[in-house]
Amino acid sequence: MPKVLIAGGAGFIGTHMTEYLLKRGWEVVSVDNFSTGKRENVERFRGDPRFTFHEMDITEAVPEGDYDYIINLASPASPQKYLSLPLDTMLVNSIGVKNLLDLAKRSGATFLLASTSEVYGDPLVHPQPETYWGNVNPVGPRSVYDEGKRFAEAITMAYHRYEGVPVRIARIFNTYGPYMDVADGRIISNFASQALLGKPLTIYGDGSQTRSFCYVSDMVEGLFRLLTYEGLDGEVVNLGNPEEWRVIDVAKLVVRLLGLEENFSFLPLPQDDPKRRKPDITKAKRLLGWEPKVPFEEGLRRTLKWYREVLNVG
Ligand code: NAD
Ligand code: UDP
Repeated sequence: MPKVLIAGGAGFIGTHMTEYLLKRGWEVVSVDNFSTGKRENVERFRGDPRFTFHEMDITEAVPEGDYDYIINLASPASPQKYLSLPLDTMLVNSIGVKNLLDLAKRSGATFLLASTSEVYGDPLVHPQPETYWGNVNPVGPRSVYDEGKRFAEAITMAYHRYEGVPVRIARIFNTYGPYMDVADGRIISNFASQALLGKPLTIYGDGSQTRSFCYVSDMVEGLFRLLTYEGLDGEVVNLGNPEEWRVIDVAKLVVRLLGLEENFSFLPLPQDDPKRRKPDITKAKRLLGWEPKVPFEEGLRRTLKWYREVLNVG
């Protein structure tokens, strides 16, 4: 069975990825520094003999070993987190990625980078295909993440072109589901916990900006195919759900699913918050035979159920 290193394994997507690969019988080595991930997310796999965990900062060291695959998920991901960890975000996406690419080279592993739709910035092309180069403010507050990920993509391609490392890049669009930290500040975790705790839902701006939300099981399946399918070295692929939602309509759906009255608080829109975002997934369909299966309403129901349990709300 293949052996994989998952960097950022204690995070939201990392937890689902670990579970998915262990179920397939893979040997999983996980590394995380718990900067935004949670100890309990790795504790649950401790009893599995095919699971090993290393608490490490990948900008300082990586777990040596012979891997068939390396999946790099390590990076703060929510705007609230990367804005509170600006330098760590830049370092994990530069030095951290370099350390993993060197390890991939040493061990002959195929390397998958979790990049982001944020490389498109506030896009002027809609929906966004992989060929779009983006509209990023290089000196704005979000640049620690956007430009960090753009550098991560550039160094990944450089190791592919000049060092012969087999690499694949996933541009992940907004993903949600269980295990997304209640306190990470993203739209779904905020709206779910605010609604369940009887607080007003915080809508930034007038809520007319859009996002497209992918349920995490669909995302993990897409990442797995991109990692393992033959002939994809050097490919950059959008992964996300093209169903586009206005933020205000997400808030309305959350309160409707919970049978609550609307209780919204309108706050200022963060600087450079993208106005529209929707993936063009033509390439993922063609190369991976992949498209999301879980409709937003269904995924949201499952997610709300999980938040209800975690928040211990009756
Ligand atoms: P997350 O914050 O839950 O997980 C990231 C994990 O990386 C955390 O466990 C964190 O502790 C770990 N980490 C951060 N810096 C590290 C370091 N220096 N050394 C070791 N571990 C470190 O976020 P997530 O939502 O699971 O995102 C995973 C990846 O996917 C990230 O790279 C993110 O940029 C990308 N992504 C996620 C989304 C999304 O909607 N969830 C969208 C686009 C891209
Ligand atoms: N948002 C909001 N209220 C919140 C959290 C987020 O209105 O409590 C908005 C945010 O301004 C953005 C969208 O929801 O337009 C998605 O934000 P998120 O932080 O989840 O991720 P982003 O796509 O901006 O990285």
